[in-house]
Amino acid sequence: MERLQKILAQAGVASRRKCEELIQSGQVEVNGQTVTELGTKADPSADIITVNGKPIRSEKKVYLMMNKPKGVITSATDPQGRKVVTDYLEGIKERVYPIGRLDYDTEGLLLLTNDGEFANLLTHPSHHVPKTYLATVKGVPHGSALDQLKKGIKLEDGMTAPAEVEYYDVDPDNNSSTITITIYEGRNRQVRRMFDAISHPVVRLKRIRFGELGLQNMKRGRFRHLTPQEVKELK
Ligand code: URA
Repeated sequence: MERLQKILAQAGVASRRKCEELIQSGQVEVNGQTVTELGTKADPSADIITVNGKPIRSEKKVYLMMNKPKGVITSATDPQGRKVVTDYLEGIKERVYPIGRLDYDTEGLLLLTNDGEFANLLTHPSHHVPKTYLATVKGVPHGSALDQLKKGIKLEDGMTAPAEVEYYDVDPDNNSSTITITIYEGRNRQVRRMFDAISHPVVRLKRIRFGELGLQNMKRGRFRHLTPQEVKELK
């Protein structure tokens, strides 16, 4: 919620001062009600705000990717005040929210936007955008165990679609191995549950690709705007 005069000024209606005059002179309505009180707050993404009957320009669409650190909640707000992904978006005034989610302990590529249609499109089950993870797991799974993941494996919410799976690294000192896995679905804790199902639990999980987008060498906690071309390719 923000002060009405700030919302109007940010939407390019006029200067803050002039917007205050517009409010006081009864030219501004919020959801069909004239508002003349200067302290009134409104929600620019939910309320219908008009000046002399004309709706104000809606918020500019923003598309971001970030490298989410582990130990951060994939949410725009947290009632308990814990660290959330939007805490990292310095300088972004628009109210963006995450597209899909990464677990608290998962790090890596996360998209955020204020474009509801775009978010719905990418999270809809019929949109099979490939997502690639680097999963460090306990032990070294046999090829036959990885074959089960490649074919599709039974989880409590049904069979998974075939995944692409490859060894990336083996660490005999720590009795662990790192595997790249690409999935085309986005069920809750899916990668962790797939490795649990072959008895090699995940100890570290990082998303390194989302569709055509790679994390590259983006530092932890950093973000950037997507280019118009990148947004187009994701659709
Ligand atoms: N799969 C998981 O298990 N966790 C994530 O955060 C993402 C995919």
